[in-house]
Amino acid sequence: MTQQGLKSAIATKPGGKPQKPAVENWFRADPEPHLLGSQCSACKTYFFPRETFYCKNPDCTGTEFQEIEFSRTGTLWSYTNGCYKPPPPFVATDPFEPYTLAAVELAKEQIVILGQVAGGAGVDDLKVGMTMELVIETLFEDDEFEHTVWKWKPVTG
Ligand SMILES: [Zn+2]
Repeated sequence: MTQQGLKSAIATKPGGKPQKPAVENWFRADPEPHLLGSQCSACKTYFFPRETFYCKNPDCTGTEFQEIEFSRTGTLWSYTNGCYKPPPPFVATDPFEPYTLAAVELAKEQIVILGQVAGGAGVDDLKVGMTMELVIETLFEDDEFEHTVWKWKPVTG
């Protein structure tokens, strides 16, 4: 990514450090949080993270993909206490703090997306089948930036 591209990806929050996605081009925060995936033009399969070269569907030879904003809500499919260090792009806090990891199925895309649960909600706040909404929260901070990532927030009421 060029220096210019990097700058344009940074949004400044009043009174805080500039926010910057922990992973580039996997999601956007404005005007609404959305994961950025892709869809094969040939077989219509959705991919996240984005596929841009070859379709992973073994029955498809597609090489053209459209960028897609994925659905903002899905159904909680599974969840777990994250008592181990999270896989990339999630960054473990130091010292390590346990977190909750949710697997949320997007109905339209037929894809399950992993993410940390937002706002400190724990396994007691979750139930398989409940609706989860995508939000963008700070993953970690350094001297310069708040690095952001998508999380899943339980929709209550
Ligand atoms: Zn395909």
